[in-house]
Amino acid sequence: MLMKNRLLSDLKKNLSSSNVLETLEERYVYAQDASNRKHMENLPDAVVFVENTEQVQKVVKLANKYKTPIICRGAGTNVVGACIPAKTGGIILNFSKMNKIIEINSENMTAKVEPGVILGDFQKEVEKSGLFYPPDPSNLAVSTIGGSIAQNSGGAKSFKYGTTKDYIIDLKVITADGTILKTGSNTIKNATGYNLNTLFAGSEGTLGIIAEATLKLIPKPQEKKVFMAYFDTVKEAVLTVNSIIEQRIFPATIDFMDKNAIQTVEKFYPANLLTDKEAALVIEIDGLACALEYQEKVITEILKQNNASDIQSSHDDKEYNRIWKARRSSMGACAKLKPNVTTDDVIVPRENLAELVLGIRKICEKYNLIVCMVGHVGDGSIHPQIPIDYNNEDEYKRYKLAKSEIYNLTAELNGIISGEHGIGAEKREQLPKVINSVALDYMRQIKKTFDPNNILNPYKIF
Ligand SMILES: Cc1cc2nc3c(=O)[nH]c(=O)nc-3n(C[C@H](O)[C@H](O)[C@H](O)COP(=O)(O)OP(=O)(O)OC[C@H]3O[C@@H](n4cnc5c(N)ncnc54)[C@H](O)[C@@H]3O)c2cc1C
Repeated sequence: MLMKNRLLSDLKKNLSSSNVLETLEERYVYAQDASNRKHMENLPDAVVFVENTEQVQKVVKLANKYKTPIICRGAGTNVVGACIPAKTGGIILNFSKMNKIIEINSENMTAKVEPGVILGDFQKEVEKSGLFYPPDPSNLAVSTIGGSIAQNSGGAKSFKYGTTKDYIIDLKVITADGTILKTGSNTIKNATGYNLNTLFAGSEGTLGIIAEATLKLIPKPQEKKVFMAYFDTVKEAVLTVNSIIEQRIFPATIDFMDKNAIQTVEKFYPANLLTDKEAALVIEIDGLACALEYQEKVITEILKQNNASDIQSSHDDKEYNRIWKARRSSMGACAKLKPNVTTDDVIVPRENLAELVLGIRKICEKYNLIVCMVGHVGDGSIHPQIPIDYNNEDEYKRYKLAKSEIYNLTAELNGIISGEHGIGAEKREQLPKVINSVALDYMRQIKKTFDPNNILNPYKIF
């Protein structure tokens, strides 16, 4: 207790006291994130708002002095308990005041940003220069650049454009002892030594603290159009994904909603969706205006051959936004079915996708659970969203058994337990199911090299 008081007093001395939160109520808020875990693990000792790199370094020095963990926090929207204290307290480092877009360089097609910049705001700003930053987790309206780098976020457009890791060219990182590490360069290519950019993508704040990022941009596609294709069976919808891919055309997105997801969205956020259908694919095409017509023709042909029973397409921005709003509302809608909701993120090689989707449905039926399935199926990725009442112990038990079976099925189908949401505190125990023990051992050694005293977001990933 005395040590905690000394830590708080030092934090207030080094930052302004209005940037340090310490009341029980304030700390309680930061013991939660969008993972919606059943049990709160631990309260942080303090929440600190940093305004620049020097302040981050000061906090790291104090964390070392008091042997207290540091847990970085963007918007707290990760769904795996990655930014809440686990097993111990610690200092929450809040980046909402480090939210400047430092530079958009049209010539080099790069941008330099602070970690607290909101992803959706950044995309809009970049687009003003005719450029494009593709990573688009469904909650891009609130999630931050720092959080999305640390989780290696993907989103609907990763089918064509890749994930966050593909856009990082340099990071300014504060290491566990408070020094500054630069991971890359301002150049678009870099074959000079190990690729530390990729190492930090998805590191969940366990290797270092991102204080600035330089990101690659690409030209903004001239035109875009989205289709919602409905099917009378889940299998037909999922098999259509591979039929599209086999034609070697490249939509920006091939996303999926099952009947429960369609009906739940329509119930709470009416969007004119066809609720009698078993599944839908949300397919976006983009690129040069002259190429769109050809892509549309080929895709419509494939959809018809695969028995799509209805196709809605966007003829203007209003229609485009209606379809995307519906797809992006699925978790919010699902949350209205029961007091709690969780989402997951499993991914398999595309040829095993149908088996995964049908298998997850069967597992949830066996355990009498509702599941709304959405996913970026172009990548082979599925998000089973399960509404649940944590106060119902029997339901919770069934839920845990179902989750374990879903991971086993994913592993049997040669898949992996996260394509974009990360591991956090939520899936630590599952790692050996899908990661080779030698690889795990190397990962642990990397963690030790960067953070020998285990002060950076401990008890996450491993
Ligand atoms: C409704 C909903 C839909 C979603 N859809 C998608 C989706 O389609 N695709 C997808 O990939 N994800 C999706 N997510 C997950 C979420 O968007 C990402 O995990 C998100 O990008 C995290 O950003 P954040 O700012 O909220 O980070 P936080 O949740 O605050 O933090 C995430 C991690 O980053 C670390 N961190 C934060 N800032 C820093 C920093 N400066 N330095 C080092 N580490 C840092 C934290 O410690 C934590 O480990 C969704 C989440 C929700 C709630």
